[in-house]
Amino acid sequence: MKKVVKFGGSSLASAEQFEKVGAIIRADANRRYVVPSAPGRRFPKDTKVTDMLYHCYATAAEGRNFHEELYAIRGRYTEIVEGLGIEVPLAEEFNVIEKNFAAKIGEDYAASRGEYLNGRIMAAYLGYEFVDAAEVICFDEEGVFDSEKTDKVMNERLKKIERAVIPGFYGAMPDGRIKTFSRGGSDITGSIVARATRAALYENWTDVSGFLLTDPRIVDNPVVISTITYKELRELSYMGASVLHDESIFPVRKAGIPINIRNTNKPDDPGTMIVKTTGAKSKYTITGIAGRKGFVAVNVEKDRMNSEIGFGRKVLEAFEMYGISFEHMPSGIDTLSVFVEQEAFEPKEQAVLAAINRMAQPDVIKIDTDLALIAVVGRSMKDARGTAGRVFASLAHARINVRMIDQGSDEENIIIGVKNDDFEAAVRAIYQIFVDVQL
Ligand code: ASP
Repeated sequence: MKKVVKFGGSSLASAEQFEKVGAIIRADANRRYVVPSAPGRRFPKDTKVTDMLYHCYATAAEGRNFHEELYAIRGRYTEIVEGLGIEVPLAEEFNVIEKNFAAKIGEDYAASRGEYLNGRIMAAYLGYEFVDAAEVICFDEEGVFDSEKTDKVMNERLKKIERAVIPGFYGAMPDGRIKTFSRGGSDITGSIVARATRAALYENWTDVSGFLLTDPRIVDNPVVISTITYKELRELSYMGASVLHDESIFPVRKAGIPINIRNTNKPDDPGTMIVKTTGAKSKYTITGIAGRKGFVAVNVEKDRMNSEIGFGRKVLEAFEMYGISFEHMPSGIDTLSVFVEQEAFEPKEQAVLAAINRMAQPDVIKIDTDLALIAVVGRSMKDARGTAGRVFASLAHARINVRMIDQGSDEENIIIGVKNDDFEAAVRAIYQIFVDVQL
C-alpha cells in the first residue's frame, strides 16, 4: 500500500515543524512520496516565503537592489537547516537563484523556489531521493497543465524510486521554463503524484483536523466532517468552504483515490476522508453548510411564460451577452428568477435589463439585491424524511424570511436565499437543528 503525503506551509514553517513532519512520515513505512509546500507562517503576522519571493522578484524585475530581500529569504531556510542539524548547500542554491533573478528569468520561477528549496531540505532530512517537479510535472507551450503527459512521465520516473520528495506548486513547459499552478497549488501536485504512483491514499497534512461542518467564523467550534464525497465537497467549496485547492480533487477523483485531510499538530486526529462513493451515512443527516453573500435576484414575470418556448433561453442569453454567469434559476408558472453575483451584475445592470426587455419582452422585471445563498449539502438527505422541514422550521424559529428555495435534482443539496443581514443567523439556526438538537 502506497501513500502520498503532502504537507502545507504551516506544517513546514520551522525546524520544529519539520521534526513533527519527520515523525509522521517515519511512523508509517507506506508514506513513500512526499510533497512539500514552501515554508508558511510561523506566527499570525509572519510572511509566507512564497509571498517574500514574489516581492523580492518584483524588486529585481524593476531593476532595483533585491539582495537584502533575498538574504531574508535565505535566513528562513538557514534557520530550518541549522535547526535540523543537516547539510544542505544553501550558498550554492542561492547563488544560482540570485543570478536568475538578476537575469529576470520570470515570476513563476521565483515563486517556485520556495517549494524547490523545501524539497531539497526535506529530501536531505528524510534521506529520500529528490525529484525536481520541473522534470515530472508538464505544462504545454501555452502554459496549460498537461495531465496525461505528466501521468506518463511521472509514473515512469517514480516507478523506479522507492521513496522520493517531489516539491509542490510547479512544473515546467516544453522549453524548460518553470510554470506554477495558482496559489495553494501544492495540493494539486499531491493529487497528481497520488494518481501517477497509483497510490492507495493521498494524505493532505495541514493545520486543521479536517473539514468543519460549517464556517468557524459563524459557529463556534463546529464539528469535523468525518467522511465527505467529492461531489459534496465540490458543492460546499463552490459556496465558499475552503481547505483544499479546488482543482486538487480532479486527478485523484479520476483514479478513485481517497484524500485524507490530517492535522500535523494533532496527528492522532483521524481528520476527514474525501471519497468517491460511500455507504457510510453522515452522522448528522447533513454533511455540511456553506454559503456566500452578495447576490442579486433578477425576477422576470410574463403572463403565460410557461407556454412560451425559448423564454428561459432568451433571458439567460441577456446575461451571457454581458459575460455574467448565473448561479441559480428557480422558476414559477409565470415567473423566473436569475441569481447572479451582485459585484459582477451591478456595473452591467441596465444593459442586461435592456437586453432582457428586448429579447424576452416580459411584463415586469423586479430586482432584489443584497441576498445571500446558503447550501445545505448531504448525501444522506434524500433518505431522511423531514430534512427540508427541519431546515425551514429552524429558519422560521429564528425569524428569518426565506427568499428562495432550490433543491438540486439529485436531492443532495438545498439552496436557500436569505437577506445578507440574515446570513449568519440562518447558518447558525440550521447548524443547531442538525448538530445540537439531532432530533
Ligand atoms: N506556496 C504556494 C502558495 O503559497 C503553494 C502552496 O503552498 O500550495 O500559494
